[in-house]
Order: sequence, then structure tokens, then C-alpha cells
Amino acid sequence: MKPYLDMTKEELLAEKVKVEAEYKGFEEANLSLNMARGKPSPEQLDLSLEMLNIITPEDYLKAENGADCRNYGELDGIPEAKRLVAELMGCRPDMVCVCGNASLSIMYDNVSRSVTHGIMGNTPWKDLKEEVKFLCPVPGYDRHFAICESLGIKMINIPMTPDGPDMDMVEDYVSKDPYVKGIWCVPKYSNPQGYSYSDETVRRFANLNPAARDFRIYWDNAYFVHSLYDDYDKKDHILNIFDECEKIGTEDMVFEFCSTSKVTFAGAGIAAMAASDNNIKDWVKWMGFRTIGFDKLNQLRHVRFIKDKQGLIEHMRKHAAILRPKFELCDKKLSEGVRPLKIGDYIMPNGGYFISFEALPGTARRIVKLAKDAGVVLTAAGAPFPYKKDPKDSVIRLAPSFPSLAELDKAMDVFMCCVKLAAIEKLLTKLD
Ligand code: PLP
Repeated sequence: MKPYLDMTKEELLAEKVKVEAEYKGFEEANLSLNMARGKPSPEQLDLSLEMLNIITPEDYLKAENGADCRNYGELDGIPEAKRLVAELMGCRPDMVCVCGNASLSIMYDNVSRSVTHGIMGNTPWKDLKEEVKFLCPVPGYDRHFAICESLGIKMINIPMTPDGPDMDMVEDYVSKDPYVKGIWCVPKYSNPQGYSYSDETVRRFANLNPAARDFRIYWDNAYFVHSLYDDYDKKDHILNIFDECEKIGTEDMVFEFCSTSKVTFAGAGIAAMAASDNNIKDWVKWMGFRTIGFDKLNQLRHVRFIKDKQGLIEHMRKHAAILRPKFELCDKKLSEGVRPLKIGDYIMPNGGYFISFEALPGTARRIVKLAKDAGVVLTAAGAPFPYKKDPKDSVIRLAPSFPSLAELDKAMDVFMCCVKLAAIEKLLTKLD
């Protein structure tokens, strides 16, 4: 089919009649579909059901150091959970704190305590004369930006590239401005584009020379084992940030996070932070005010279920077998139905939970609204940007994981119809 961009006004008007008829059909079908959030599907959650019964009252409920997992204590996690996470993250167990059910709350706690108490003896940000800033690679994860917004931290957009954030900009801000205190990074299968940072990007992060002593890289390794293909850690292998930092002595600059939300149960997994000895000491001291200890029974369940790195790889293959056909369906539909029209493009990732779609500038909000009116909920336009402001109004994050294949098939048809309709409307206004 002729690209919309090359069509005359008459051709576009004729196409509009066709696309509007298609859209009307969807409206009349009373659909109720959702591609908004990166949630595992029920089928994926079933993969971990066995974990629920893996510990029983008759069982030995003590950790390997003898700690009774039913009782208070072990603030930084039971040793076998720390060892498991360390093996997965590629760091030493003493660098790991295994916490509660969500990595997002560990990230929130770190930003929040920096504001209220200060980290490692630095001035609490609330007492500083000037506004604190965070660098935000865009498009990015909306909940990272929401943390900053809720705590009054100014956000600065940093463009993403297929190799990671624009490092020239990052180096410039970080080395010159003492009020730049952090950067959000999703180094592997970034949310939403699915990019994995190149070796050079990781090295440049490790080599940062911040103007602020309490500048931290929030290395959110949320998708560290979430490959869609049977090539675990080969194609999108990223360098270990701590190894690179230790070569230079900059390891205090990094907070790394991960969780099993998309390995076992979302919101009922285990989450962890890895950091240098100095940071971990500081964190544990502060955590002691906040809790007497996290859910160690859940930590025990996870260790017995996942066992080790090999156990995790095998488990993640089962997730991939469910997710891959969904991503491939979107890929096929978008490559055949939208790409040739030159009204938008997308990135097909090798892992993670999202497909990032870039529509014609000025049409993302319209597409999301059209889809909603036709019964398909998409992530709000603007969500992947600080303050929900997409400067070009063009990025839409698609989350194919939750719907069934049949639902996704339908939802994508609706989405593509909305992309076409919004593009025609936009192009016609230009031709008026
Ligand atoms: N970080 C990223 C980049 C995510 O995409 C998500 C969930 O979508 C999370 C963190 C949330 O993780 P958790 O469930 O461990 O809080």
C-alpha cells in the first residue's frame, strides 16, 4: 500500500472513509481489552504456583545460619537469599540486601531518605539551598519519574539511544552541577524501548566524576534475566557495573536493584539492592528505623524454588515461551500493517516487557483516546516522560504480556486502526 505520507488529499480522504468504517466496527463490538501495564499473564503466574507449597509447617523453617524464618531479624536478608541474588547480579553476597516484595519501594526509600536524612553523612536534600535534580533517560519508566515528582525533585530529560542514554549529556550534567544527584537507568531491556546498554556506556557510567558527593546511579536491573529468546545473557549481555567501578574506585556511586516480580509473582516476589560496603552499611542503619525485618519465609520459598542461576534460566525459558508469541504477533502486525505506511515505527526488543511505538508527532494522545473509546486501554500518552510531557506527543508504550494471544490480536487491530486514523487526521490538517 502507498505510504500515507505520499498520498494526495483525495487519496487520504478516501482512505479515511475506509479506516473510519473499520473503527466504527470496533466501537460497535463493545470490546474491553487492556495493553496498559507490563503485568505477567495468569499463565505466567501459574509457572510459580509450586512455590506456594514449597515450605510446609512440618518443614525445617530455619535459614542456613539457624535463623528462624518465622521470627523477626536478619534485616539484610537470610544468607542463602543474599547468595542467590548475588549470583544472579554478579556481585558478592555481602553487597546485597534482600528486602521486601518490591524493588520500587527500595528505590523510593533511597530517594526519600536522601531528602530527609541524607546518605553517607551528606546534607539532606531538603536542607539544600537549590533544587535537587535527577537525570531521566527518555522515554523511561513512569514510576521512576513519579518518585521524583512526589518528592519535589526536578527532572531533566536525557535522550536514549540504542546504546543507552546520551552519555555526553550525562557526563556534562553530572560533572558540572552539584545539584544533579541521581540518574535513573534500566540497563538491560530498558522500559519501554528494550535497549541494552553497550559496554562503552557502562564504562562511561563507571567513570563518571560527579560534582556531588552523594550523586547515585539508580541501576534498576528490573529485566536482568527477562530474555524473550533462548539466548540467556548472550545477545544483550551487559557489563557488570560494579566490576567496572571497582577498577576505578567509584563503586560508592551505584545503587543496583532487582526483583522477582516478573520471575515468580508480581508484587509478591522478593526484591533486593546491591551496593558498595559503605552504602550497604548506611542503608542497613537507616533500614533499622523502618522495619525489624522483611518477609524471610518468602525469601526461603524463593531460594528453594529457584535454587540457583541455572534454575532461574530454566524458569525464565518457560516465561519466554509464553511471552515470545505475543511479541512476535505485535511485530508481525506492526511490520505489515503500519510500517509500510510510514506513519510510525517501533522497536522489537529481545527481552523485557514492552514495545515502544513512535507515532507521527502530535498523534499519540489522539491514538490513546481513540483506542480507549473503542474499548482498548493503552498506557497514557506522555507516561514515559517526566511530568507526563512527551515533547513530540509521539511515544506509546505497548504492553503485550497480559492479554491472551486472541485478545492481543484484537487489541493490536484496534491500535493499528487508531494509528491510521490519527495519522490521516494529522496529515489532512497539514494539507488544508
Ligand atoms: N523497574 C522497572 C524498570 C519496571 O519496569 C518495573 C515494573 O514494571 C519495576 C521496576 C517494578 O518492580 P517491582 O515490582 O520490583 O517494584
